[in-house]
Amino acid sequence: MHNLRPIHSIEDIPTKYQNTPIGLLLEFHNLNKKPALFEDAQLLIGMCIDNRKQLNLPENFAYVLRSPGANFDQDAFAISYAVLVGEVRYIALIGHNDCGMVQLAHKRETFLKGLEEVGNWEKGKAIEFYESNLIEYGLENEIDILIRQATEFRGLYPKVITVPMLYRVEDKKLFLIENN
Ligand SMILES: [Zn+2]
Repeated sequence: MHNLRPIHSIEDIPTKYQNTPIGLLLEFHNLNKKPALFEDAQLLIGMCIDNRKQLNLPENFAYVLRSPGANFDQDAFAISYAVLVGEVRYIALIGHNDCGMVQLAHKRETFLKGLEEVGNWEKGKAIEFYESNLIEYGLENEIDILIRQATEFRGLYPKVITVPMLYRVEDKKLFLIENN
C-alpha cells in the first residue's frame, strides 16, 4: 500500500530530502520558492506528456523527459544519458491522477477509428498497432508503475536517489508517494 504525502510547508518535506534537488523541486513547485540560478541540471524529472501538467521550475534546474503515462520502459537509454553524462544523482518520477494511459483500454474504438480516418490505416494494421502498444503503454493505475520503475532505477543506479511523486491535476500540487 502507498500513502500520498502532501507538501504544504518546508516541514512537510522529509528530512532526508531537505536541501537536496528533490526538496528543492517540491519547494519550487509547491511552495513557490523564489527561482535560484543553476549552472547545471540538478535532477532528472520523468513525467507524463499530459498538457495539464506544468511544473514551476527555474532555468537549467532539471532535465525533463516526458512519456505517455510516465512510462519509461522504452527509454532506458535516455535515462542513462541524463544520469551518466548529465551527472544527475536524483530522479523524480512524476505521475498524475486522471491519466489517459490508464483509460487506454477503454479507448480502443476511438484509437482504431482515428488510425483509419487520420492515418488512412488499414484495419488489421491498426488493430495490431493498438494492441501491441496497449501492452507497452496501458497502465493499470497511475501509481503502481511509478513504484515499479523507481525500484528498477534503484537497482540500476544504486547511487541515484529515485523518488516517485503524484501530480494532482485539480490543484496542480505534487505529493510524495510513500510505501507503507
Ligand atoms: Zn498521463
